Amino acid sequence: MSAFNMQKFDGAGQSFEIDPVCEMKVKLQNPPAKIVFQGRTYYFCSDLCRRLFEREPMKYIQMEGE
Ligand SMILES: [Zn+2]
Repeated sequence: MSAFNMQKFDGAGQSFEIDPVCEMKVKLQNPPAKIVFQGRTYYFCSDLCRRLFEREPMKYIQMEGE
């Protein structure tokens, strides 16, 4: 079961962001969906996740120190 969590990034230099809704990795080169919220860009695996985020953004954003 633990082996599933050991995925490695494929390809050097590829950048990923984590979809805050479903926590999938989203490639930055060609993201299926994204949104700018409070000056930050969030990337999503699909338009569905983007819409869920739009409805309740604070539910998905984890405030990090600052
Ligand atoms: Zn998603």
